[in-house]
Amino acid sequence: MPIREETLRSLYGEMVEWRRYLHRHPELSFQEFKTSSWIAEKLEAWGLEVTRGVAGTGIVARLRGGRPGRTIALRADIDALPIQDEKTCEYASTVPGVMHACGHDGHTAELLAVARYYSLHREETAGTRVFLFQPAEEVLPGGAVGMIAAGALEGVDAVYGVHLWSPFPYGVVATRPGPLMASPDEFEAEILGRGGHGGLPHQSADAIVAGAHLVVALQTIVSRNVDPLESAVVSVGRLSAGGARNVIADRCQVEGTVRTFTPEARALVRQRLEEVARHIGAMHGTEARMTYFEGYPPVVNDAAEVERFFKVASELLEPGEARRCDPIMAGEDFSYYLRERPGCFFFVGAGREDGTSAPHHHPRFDIDERAMLTAARLLVGIADDSAEDTRR
Ligand SMILES: [Zn+2]
Ligand SMILES: [Zn+2]
Repeated sequence: MPIREETLRSLYGEMVEWRRYLHRHPELSFQEFKTSSWIAEKLEAWGLEVTRGVAGTGIVARLRGGRPGRTIALRADIDALPIQDEKTCEYASTVPGVMHACGHDGHTAELLAVARYYSLHREETAGTRVFLFQPAEEVLPGGAVGMIAAGALEGVDAVYGVHLWSPFPYGVVATRPGPLMASPDEFEAEILGRGGHGGLPHQSADAIVAGAHLVVALQTIVSRNVDPLESAVVSVGRLSAGGARNVIADRCQVEGTVRTFTPEARALVRQRLEEVARHIGAMHGTEARMTYFEGYPPVVNDAAEVERFFKVASELLEPGEARRCDPIMAGEDFSYYLRERPGCFFFVGAGREDGTSAPHHHPRFDIDERAMLTAARLLVGIADDSAEDTRR
């Protein structure tokens, strides 16, 4: 069916109201109890088949359309972050130290509007829509894994998701085929030396000198080992050692993050981190133990689904609004859905035209709320197109 623009537009006021309610009442990852029942009550009232308590605080809601077609899943994440809201607007967070600083309140509101839309147009809808309200995107292991394990993708043919994105201005939507977002892995090297008197270094094994060499040596992994045409980052974010000026430290911790887009680059960086640490440790008569924490896999878009995104965007939006973006070094657990089913993840610009918006995870983060309507229109357009796609 053609998209009923007037229905979506009529839901915009509620979308804003819902988003502001959630913004005032944020809940941390895996603790979205009130958020979850608030969402479920609405979906139940609109007549969807609702399963509560999926992966803890997640919700899966199904709506069967009146016409035949494929089963399409749409996902929103619902969690907030442990950040103190510094905004002073009327919808600022009322929970000390907790804030929707990534826009997941907007994701929830726009997906609710899409669910409401389909409940009002059930008979004309082709196929089934599955609404995934997922907990805990912000903390490992992420809510997506549990949602999938609980069967959220059963019978689903394709899955789509969106991130409202403040680095892009309102009026721009973007994605790309293949790798879109990185694997956000982390590491911790513990160097074990032998402490001693600062004036008698020959009687000790200095963990600080080994740690300092390790920080420098790690810079060569991206510059000397990773294929120059690949993108990768190794950043040391924390270095801790020592207790007194005249004491040689017996241990030193070097911690950081790794961002890669391909399994090959990811495996290579991990292997080199371990090798470099081991050898630097040995070189200084210390022992270095590397612990590697795997984050989410990279978000990799299906090429045909990205074509669908651009086709639908060209029908619904103004010329030039939809763009192909570069990969982004942030991570997202939407990657797990895309490993199971074809689909597409895309960004909807929610920032200021002049680029002065606070970045995601910032205490003054906010969105241009009009972006929620753009996201909802695209989700409906893509889901309808995909549901009636007989080629796939
Ligand atoms: Zn985030
Ligand atoms: Zn996010």
